[in-house]
Amino acid sequence: MDLGLKNRVAFVAAASTGLGRAVAGRLAAEGATLAICARSRQTLEAAAEEIRASTGATVSVVTCDVTHEADVRRAIDETAERFGRLDILITNAGGPPSGGFAQFADGLEPYRKALELNLLSTVSLTQAAVPHMRRNGWGRVVAVTSLSAKQPSTSLLLSSIARAGVLAFTKVLATELAREGITVNSVCPGFTLTERLSELAEAEAGRNGIEMEAVYEQWRRDIPAKRIADPAEFADVVAFLASERASYVTGVALAIDGGIIKSLY
Ligand code: NAD
Repeated sequence: MDLGLKNRVAFVAAASTGLGRAVAGRLAAEGATLAICARSRQTLEAAAEEIRASTGATVSVVTCDVTHEADVRRAIDETAERFGRLDILITNAGGPPSGGFAQFADGLEPYRKALELNLLSTVSLTQAAVPHMRRNGWGRVVAVTSLSAKQPSTSLLLSSIARAGVLAFTKVLATELAREGITVNSVCPGFTLTERLSELAEAEAGRNGIEMEAVYEQWRRDIPAKRIADPAEFADVVAFLASERASYVTGVALAIDGGIIKSLY
């Protein structure tokens, strides 16, 4: 299937490592032109060089902290100006600290930070990108969230509340933008092998006084597919949602989770 991504211009946020990096690589392999952002130029340059070498795609790098509204606007506008258009936005960021109410029973600061990192960054990236999509009457927004968006977790309280907000935001936006040829969807990754997952495993091991490998073992037992995902499996699904072929899919929150989410929708 030709995804119809050749010559499309995509902005992939938080793309120096992990899920964002995998999505950037997939979009580039399908012929898209890319801008990738993260906070550190050095790791971004290394990721961009790898992607260029393996795909031949044009990849520009923009340093940007997605929690800084002005940074986000500059990064998106610079990208649209450099390539003359912006068709695809993948919103993404790091994850907030793990833990439940026991860890976050005192004070609002961790909550504020999590909302800034995972909810408000999605809003500001989208606010900056949608006007460029409107100009061409075509656009794709795919928001990276988490299984915790659909299945709130006692070990991921901060993530759970911020991601639920993203699902609501993307659903409202999907409804408003559908008539303009712009689709807006969310993806909810399950356990996927990245640095973030090893950080979560380490924290979980520390909380329970067990080895990290025992945490991975427990996760594998709980996942119906009985294994942790490869980031490439996540990226393939995101590339489809960002593609011409997904033109009639909007407002969904799609789990890419090996079956671990127990809810119907
Ligand atoms: P990761 O920690 O491996 O990579 C995160 C990326 O975000 C890095 O490139 C980092 O430089 C960048 N980043 C972090 N904060 C940023 C900021 N303020 N501004 C710009 N860039 C920033 O994480 P990942 O596993 O790739 O996860 C991506 C998202 O998906 C996270 O929000 C994570 O919580 C969520 N998620 C991951 C999993 C998983 O199993 N990996 C599962 C569910 C949800």
